[in-house]
Amino acid sequence: MTSGAPTVSFEFFPPKTEKMEQSLWQAIRRLAPLAPAFVSVTYGAGGSTRERTHATVCRIQSETGIHAAAHLTCVGATADEIDAVARTYWDAGIRHIVALRGDPPEAAGGVAGHYTPHPGGYPYAADLVAGLRRVADFELSVAAYPEKHPEAGSAEADLDNLKRKIDAGATRAITQFFFDNDAYFRFVDRARAAGIDVPIVPGILPITNFARAVEFAGRCGAAVPAAMADAFDGLDADPETRQLVAATVCAEQCQALRAQGVHDFHFYTLNRADLTVAICHLLGVRAKAVPAEAVAGA
Ligand code: FAD
Repeated sequence: MTSGAPTVSFEFFPPKTEKMEQSLWQAIRRLAPLAPAFVSVTYGAGGSTRERTHATVCRIQSETGIHAAAHLTCVGATADEIDAVARTYWDAGIRHIVALRGDPPEAAGGVAGHYTPHPGGYPYAADLVAGLRRVADFELSVAAYPEKHPEAGSAEADLDNLKRKIDAGATRAITQFFFDNDAYFRFVDRARAAGIDVPIVPGILPITNFARAVEFAGRCGAAVPAAMADAFDGLDADPETRQLVAATVCAEQCQALRAQGVHDFHFYTLNRADLTVAICHLLGVRAKAVPAEAVAGA
């Protein structure tokens, strides 16, 4: 077991409505005292949230003083347009970008569309990383897939792709969420053997809605262990018990990662604080004093 509290980071998505904005800021006010290394804000499929992502990232950093990272994708824009977005981040004091290929917007009926590089755009995340390196001296994080990206021809091809992203200048990989810790450790071993030596931070999804988590997992190829399905079995109509079970299941996953030396954790908060606060607490992450303005926002 590694000693000391781990380092945590939190991911949010940009709110669409006034009500969602309020719940995001409630979550930020509860999570800010945990002094995350950084927080990040996603970029909607097809670049649909460009302005909202920008506004949310800048507001978090200026009102809480926490380093905020902007997700940026290759979808639906030329390289020049993406470079211009990156420059506005740099000028606003944002120094960390999570550089992604992105997924196309869903077609009618919620079916995922087929990805086609934009003419004149950055085709893949490795190209985006190389482009952003030319724009400014950003800290660059990229995505990694312990259970393989669904479109990758093989696990080896996917690992080669991660290596290209690191060789292009990324300094951290954040994984897709997973529930099978062995899959994560096997992946890290393979990455180290392939010469990838940047931190590979596990992406942790505290489950608020098990049925929806299973659906997400199916889409991104994450296995759902039978023990986890069993833990949530019969709780669809019992949100209070489900919440307690969710905290326990996720805390056990994180504590097992911690016991094997994992020091950094990235939480997919879905803009909710409760489970993440509880899990961080169980990991030994305690609130630190934060400037009054950090918790007074909104
Ligand atoms: P890439 O690394 O470019 O890889 C995509 C696929 O293409 C892989 O299968 C890869 O093996 C293959 N590939 C790479 N290069 C080539 C090539 N030259 N020729 C052929 N195939 C190639 N999506 C969003 O829309 N917005 C977000 O904010 C967002 N945040 C995310 C944060 C994290 C931490 C993670 C893990 C994912 C996030 N996603 C987000 C989802 C992500 O955009 C999708 O998983 C997307 O399908 C792949 O993005 P990538 O950056 O991994 O792509």
